[in-house]
Amino acid sequence: MPDIIHLLPDSVANQIAAGEVIQRPASAVKELLENAIDAGATSIELIIKDAGKTLIQVIDNGSGMSDTDARLCFERHATSKIKDASDLFCIRTMGFRGEALASIAAIAQVELKTRRHDDDLGTLLILEGTDVKSQEICQCAAGTSFAVKNLYFNVPARRNFLKADNIESTHITEEFYRVALINPQIAFSYHHNNKLVIQVSKSTFKQRIINLFGKNFTERLIPVEQETNVVAINGFIGKPEFAKKVRGEQYFFINKRFIKHPYLHHAVENAFQELIPEKSIPSYFIQMEVDPKLIDINIHPTKTEVKFQDEKTIYAILRSVVKQSLGKFSLSPSIDFEVEPSLDLNPPPASYIPKEPAIKIDPYYNPFDHSKAFKPSNESPRERSNKQNWEKLFDIRETNQNVPENTHIIVKNTQHKLIEDNEQASLEQNHNNIFQLKNRYIVSTISSGLLIIDQQRAHERILYESYMAGLNNLHSVSQQQLFPQTITFNPSDADLLNELRNDIFFFGFEINEFGKNSFIINGIPADIEDTNIKEILEGMLESYKKNMIDVKVDKKINLALSLARNMAVKPGKRLTEPEMQSIIDRLFACSLPEISPSNKKILITVTIDELNENFNK
Ligand code: ADP
Ligand code: MG
Repeated sequence: MPDIIHLLPDSVANQIAAGEVIQRPASAVKELLENAIDAGATSIELIIKDAGKTLIQVIDNGSGMSDTDARLCFERHATSKIKDASDLFCIRTMGFRGEALASIAAIAQVELKTRRHDDDLGTLLILEGTDVKSQEICQCAAGTSFAVKNLYFNVPARRNFLKADNIESTHITEEFYRVALINPQIAFSYHHNNKLVIQVSKSTFKQRIINLFGKNFTERLIPVEQETNVVAINGFIGKPEFAKKVRGEQYFFINKRFIKHPYLHHAVENAFQELIPEKSIPSYFIQMEVDPKLIDINIHPTKTEVKFQDEKTIYAILRSVVKQSLGKFSLSPSIDFEVEPSLDLNPPPASYIPKEPAIKIDPYYNPFDHSKAFKPSNESPRERSNKQNWEKLFDIRETNQNVPENTHIIVKNTQHKLIEDNEQASLEQNHNNIFQLKNRYIVSTISSGLLIIDQQRAHERILYESYMAGLNNLHSVSQQQLFPQTITFNPSDADLLNELRNDIFFFGFEINEFGKNSFIINGIPADIEDTNIKEILEGMLESYKKNMIDVKVDKKINLALSLARNMAVKPGKRLTEPEMQSIIDRLFACSLPEISPSNKKILITVTIDELNENFNK
């Protein structure tokens, strides 16, 4: 028997390898764009004809190549990017395997024009299926132009596999976006069938996002930024209200390389939880810089997956930085006393006569007597530690040297005049003053200015988080009713209440059926008054139904949302100072003190600088 094994000719081997690297025209686009970036280009043109089937051309003003390099670059494993194995651990370039051009050349007709900036003349090289057809000296611009014609001309089976032009060109556009997004320092243009698709000049990352995705992104983006010793994160997330049901605006880049990472995607999604309807996907454009040594180097050029050594830590950091930004963005820098007409603000009853905003004065108040200071009786250790957080956040207890001169705003003013003397000045610095505005907002001085809190939204957040915590631990405290009320509902609400009865038991409601759409209320949550139970339960059922349709959240979350909304103090409710203090303290013990569960701004700050600016307009 003769031997049967033989080596495949290079051309066939290259074609097989090419199938892996160049799966479709978009893969060639990606490789050529990345080579141009590695060559240090500041301007890159992409020209496509017939979705890349007829022509893919990339023209750059990068380093260019010598005539020998121009020849060599098409050889398999020909690369200028690594020299030995150790280089593999500090790869910062897009390519390094030296496979892309060899693969492209194996399955297309390629025309390369290239000139280094210091050379007078360049090289023109024509190849067809790896064979060099001609090489000559030519006049051309500094940089490199690769024209890839008739992709898969020699592999008809493969060519037949290509999808319709619109599909292939969508893939190309997506590759172009990925590369253009993360390289805002480079100007790009993209033509398809002689029409300009997009052109962007050198800009910032934010501007690049706006240039590529549209002007309306100007208002939508919230910055994220965090530098740690494991990862440096920066970029932008879309505001929750712009989350879409379809994928498409999710971009992670690791060391300037686009990646897909379901695990990290989950981190972002998790941070957005509660803020967006179920099945909506937040937009994000996030770049991460990680020491290349901490990334698995065995990344295939066509793959967009990456493995990190310390994935869990990166997950935690990413989640927290996104959460933080989501929180921060609602801190509007402007004085905005306008309340947008929102669904969750119940109008006061017609009989309600608005009172003058009164400053409650305690004539016996002694600023130096700290024993009387209100402490919420049920302050937990978690609340205490979190309180320190918010004090830090707002620099509430800043010392004298940090307080700019002549910038006292004194609200708790027992003498109805601006108090200038030192004693009162120190009072202001040692105690944050609180009052209620229009029975609707809690206003507190902080060292940087004023903090204005929407009482209903704040309370809603507090209740929501305590319910969610209760759901995960034991159930809330219920106060047993001495004289249980009987409440009758309409038939459909009665049905729903019946269905939810066991669930709301965990929130402190003990409700038993009494027949004919009636229920006996034996116990209610400890923190509500029994006078408006019917109203609360009806409101809760209403919100629950609405959430089922609009937000489609999980049943338990929906209940917590609906109860929190209906049990929160309403505008118009007069609060005592200890109550206000307790709301402030408990609010800042929450994980998201700035946004209500229904995604509304809870607080705004007005800084002294902003006040000064307004007075000097
Ligand atoms: P890799 O990028 O992995 O090194 P390629 O096959 O993509 O492999 O490219 C081979 C080499 O050709 C590169 O290492 C680089 O030296 C050179 N090269 C490719 N494209 C360009 C370009 N646009 N400008 C300058 N040099 C280039
Ligand atoms: Mg390359």
